[in-house]
Amino acid sequence: MNNPYLSLAMPGVAQLQPYQPGKPLAELERELGITGATKLASNENPLGPSPQALVAAQQTLTTLGLYPDANGYQLKQALAAKHGVDTTQLTLGNGSNDVLDIIARIFLGPNRVAVYAEHAFIVYPIVIRAASATARIALAHTGQRGVRYGHDAQTLLAAVTPATRLLFIANPNNPTGTYLTQSELYALLQQVPPTVVVVVDEAYVEYVTAPDYPDASRWLAEFPNLVVTRTFSKAYGLAGLRVGYALSSIALADLFNRVRQPFNVNSVALAAATAALADAAHVAATVNLNTQERVMMTQALTALGLVVIPSVANFVCVDVGRPARPVFDALLRHGLITRPVAEYGLPQHLRISVGLPEQNQRLVAVLAEVLR
Ligand SMILES: *Cc1c(COP(=O)(O)O)cnc(C)c1O
Repeated sequence: MNNPYLSLAMPGVAQLQPYQPGKPLAELERELGITGATKLASNENPLGPSPQALVAAQQTLTTLGLYPDANGYQLKQALAAKHGVDTTQLTLGNGSNDVLDIIARIFLGPNRVAVYAEHAFIVYPIVIRAASATARIALAHTGQRGVRYGHDAQTLLAAVTPATRLLFIANPNNPTGTYLTQSELYALLQQVPPTVVVVVDEAYVEYVTAPDYPDASRWLAEFPNLVVTRTFSKAYGLAGLRVGYALSSIALADLFNRVRQPFNVNSVALAAATAALADAAHVAATVNLNTQERVMMTQALTALGLVVIPSVANFVCVDVGRPARPVFDALLRHGLITRPVAEYGLPQHLRISVGLPEQNQRLVAVLAEVLR
């Protein structure tokens, strides 16, 4: 489109392309005239949310005429207890992406730089460009010193200059499923200048069972420039409600809450998230299923002769050995939605969310047929 307003927009906005979401199930079913399609494209919880979260959400419907609690009192109390932090260290967001955007708006602008790794979560470049700041991309591992495609703590640190205000780290990363170990991340935090705010995005933390994976929220007292973001969209199964949060020093949370829109988290989301947090058994069942099925998927895809990036999250990223887009399209015609990740610099990879056993088996069988 020849957009006459493009030249009037802030320079970063002019470079932005809209985010490409996973194809919605209903859209594919409409297009194919079918029902029962399978979506393994957006890393959602195949079990859905806790039944207790659904009850809480329903109970809130009688109060929809009222504004939500702008301060999210109940949810913040529950989160503070869970993490052993003060409620003043918490910032609630309309999904954790909202928090990422808030952070970018506070610290970035023209002539300011934010660093992230090659193949990192695409919301980082979006929020950086939306703030008209400069993105500096640290090369990922090539397979020599660490897992190929994974974040490289050394290149991340080397990319930091005096102009750097933010460093985004997805741990584990989407779409690769790779992670920085405890010793790598801790050493990085120690070496980053205190003038750089380090955002460790832990959207998939609940799924990780690797013993050398760090829960960075334990280091908040030690690093006042550290922000840890979490979400209810993934293991808690509440992606549709949009609720996430940041943990940080009180000083940073004070800034975040100045910029945050007062009613950014709606009342249904607040209630459902609070209830979801209390249902540890549902999260445990979710994680168990995922761990088992991720192993199955990885083995089955490897048996097809494909190379899978080792993942600790609820998805796998697989090299299909040819341009992935036509493979994605062929899977769509079979009613299977996956995620091509060319815009992440991975044109031969598909990201496949780990679903229910029968969904995963179908995916593997159809993929084998499509690739034959
Ligand atoms: C899915 C995801 C999020 C979560 O976004 P929400 O806005 O909380 O739904 C954040 N970071 C990464 C790396 C993700 O993959």
